[in-house]
Amino acid sequence: MEKPNLKGLYEKIHEKMQSDKKLKTIAISGLCLFIVLAAVMFVYSRSVLEVSVNGQTIGYVKNHEKFLEIKKGLKARFKDKLSADVQFVQEIKATPVRAFGHKLDLEDDIIEKLEKTLTCKLKAVAINIDGKEVAMVKDKATAEKVLDQVKQHYISQTPGELIKLEVAEKVKLVERYVYAKDIISAEAAVDLILKGGVETRTYEVVEGDSLWTISRRENIPLEELIKANPQLKSEHELAIGDIINLTEVKPLLNVSILKKVTYEESIPFETETIKDNSMWTWDQKVKQEGQKGVKEVTAEVLFANGIKVSEQVIGEKVIKEPVKRIVAKGTKAEVAFRGNGRFAWPIVGTITSPYGYRGREFHSGIDIAQSKGAPVRASNSGTVTFAGWRGGYGNLVIINHGGGIETYYAHNSAITVSVGQKVEKGQQIAKVGSTGRSTGNHVHFEIRINGSPVNPLNYL
Ligand SMILES: [Zn+2]
Repeated sequence: MEKPNLKGLYEKIHEKMQSDKKLKTIAISGLCLFIVLAAVMFVYSRSVLEVSVNGQTIGYVKNHEKFLEIKKGLKARFKDKLSADVQFVQEIKATPVRAFGHKLDLEDDIIEKLEKTLTCKLKAVAINIDGKEVAMVKDKATAEKVLDQVKQHYISQTPGELIKLEVAEKVKLVERYVYAKDIISAEAAVDLILKGGVETRTYEVVEGDSLWTISRRENIPLEELIKANPQLKSEHELAIGDIINLTEVKPLLNVSILKKVTYEESIPFETETIKDNSMWTWDQKVKQEGQKGVKEVTAEVLFANGIKVSEQVIGEKVIKEPVKRIVAKGTKAEVAFRGNGRFAWPIVGTITSPYGYRGREFHSGIDIAQSKGAPVRASNSGTVTFAGWRGGYGNLVIINHGGGIETYYAHNSAITVSVGQKVEKGQQIAKVGSTGRSTGNHVHFEIRINGSPVNPLNYL
């Protein structure tokens, strides 16, 4: 048996311990390396979202939920500010990127940045007439109010009780997102639809035209006409053949309205002629003045954009009967004149010019106004000595009554006797006219004694 070598054992143990320590060190180092590597990989593999608009980075958010929250918050903020739903013109992009090296931004900061960057469109309603968008208003209620106001405009512009209203065009209201500047007020939209487009056509000036008469006839306000014709230096300078512009307002909607209209209308009176044997045949007198009656007419009237197009009478009620005009006509025969020494009126009528001086001129007879064609009668019996044209007298008849007395009947439209003819007092010799130097139909009547005119009124 060998004696144990203590020293050798010790050395052996020591040797073993040394190798264990080395192993431990290696293990610990490996573990550390692994942890570091894992941490680095973790950091590198984690991603965040980069928020951008048109390639411009706005900031970084943690994840998609946060991004949606930001978008929601942004819309709420715009809606608050503009009181309408909004849509952004640009697209907000969220792209995943490695988190490493990017600091996450505060939500509010991103919202604020986006607010400054984005352009938005507002939710609005387009009024579409026959497929054409004519106006954009803020919402459906406003659009409906606009259409109602247009209809009310035409209803209030016309009299009567509404039966039916029709709009010729197809009107649609379409919800759309539009730029704020394209949205107009209800008042502006009503105005636009009523005034619509202005169409211009030309017109050639004819005799008797003035801007004022054209304005009235064409139903165009005078100031509009002046505006449409800047070439005219003055509104009085129209010449025949001038071409002027007529502007016509074409409303965008054609509204026809049927209304029950009640109005008063006058009823004309009739004239009745009665015979009166106490009056001469050429004499007549109004016994009773005529009076127009009144009736209430009920009609269905069709208006197109406020202008009357047609009318159908559906009822009439007499409120006041007309009073007829009664005229008495004389029947006293012409023969009744015979033997009367005095001169008779050649015609019954108003004396429009007496005998004597009028100004510097001497009026040698009396003028008796009467309508054209009325019979002119011989003032007394006698012989026709002149029947024809004589200068200012025009068609003249002269009757010689004997004893140096003559009567003249001038300005006749026709003469019904001839020279040398014997006439009775009251017999028709001519027809009233306005020939020669005369203004208006009348008989110029003279009595001459030995060739000198005397005042006829002293002999009638
Ligand atoms: Zn006269």
